[in-house]
Amino acid sequence: MRAMLLKQQKQPLVLTEIPKPIVKDDQLLIKVHTCGVCRTDLHLKDADLPHPKLPLILGHEIVGTIEEMGKNVKGFQLGERIGVPWLSNTCGKCPFCKEGQENLCDNALYTGYLIDGGFAEYTVCKADFAISLPAGLSDQQMAPLLCAGLIGYRAYRKAAPQKTLGIYGFGAAAHILTQLATFEGKEVYAFTKKGDEKGEEFAKKLGAVWAGDSQTLPPVALDAAIIFAPVGSLVPQALKALKKGGRCICGGIHMSDIPSFPYKDLWGEKRIESVANLTRKDGKEFFAAVSRFPIQTEVTVYPLEGANEALEDLRNGKFHGAAVLQVGLET
Ligand SMILES: [Zn+2]
Ligand SMILES: [Zn+2]
Repeated sequence: MRAMLLKQQKQPLVLTEIPKPIVKDDQLLIKVHTCGVCRTDLHLKDADLPHPKLPLILGHEIVGTIEEMGKNVKGFQLGERIGVPWLSNTCGKCPFCKEGQENLCDNALYTGYLIDGGFAEYTVCKADFAISLPAGLSDQQMAPLLCAGLIGYRAYRKAAPQKTLGIYGFGAAAHILTQLATFEGKEVYAFTKKGDEKGEEFAKKLGAVWAGDSQTLPPVALDAAIIFAPVGSLVPQALKALKKGGRCICGGIHMSDIPSFPYKDLWGEKRIESVANLTRKDGKEFFAAVSRFPIQTEVTVYPLEGANEALEDLRNGKFHGAAVLQVGLET
């Protein structure tokens, strides 16, 4: 099969012909249709995240169909469309797993990081971690929901209850959450890079009541802020925008250092929290929520061999919404 391989961090991916993976008893073999391109893929390529499996197939927003099932798999059908997210295995035994926090499992495996992901024609996943997908969205539209949507949703719930919500870094996750939050009657304040007028327009088109430069303060104090941009200096900036008791949620897996700031900006019972990974319960809740409202993802599509270009375009903010690789069948 064709795969885009990361042979070494800080090097471009290389289109390589490798054997199709062999399905284990508890796994599904998936013919990949589309795979979203996430900022985490860029962090892995850039070596912001340590010790990936190498060589590695990136990609953890996989939409495909089941081509083969291991002999112990139940509850799925051949040909069924499913999604494969970031969380690919947990131990079930550590204190976090036992207390419903499998997102923090000490021995978890992550798709496209510690095991191979979806920048390839086929992938395997443990059936227990695959996600049944609702109908209604194409494979291209669906892919960004598998991480940007899902982990964004975890950040959104952590920020609740909120009426006024600021979102810093208006990329794939923000464009999905803005639609959900607006649908649920929240006011979204979108913070973009200085001078990014198209980004501001895009945010408003999706329902944001205000959009502006991340270095400015919004017209009202915020109940909560979610930071998706990997920029630590946004944390003290967001704290200034919060009401007393407000929450600042850091939604990314990697961020540059947070500069020091005056204690008065945290005072008033403001909180800073991070969001790590997802649980299978998050997956069920998010896709149930998605099927209740008319979400539209904005995607820029690349062929499998265009993965390097997609990653660079993501880095350089060349598109709004999400990048998706069209690997297999078109929808
Ligand atoms: Zn565990
Ligand atoms: Zn991701």
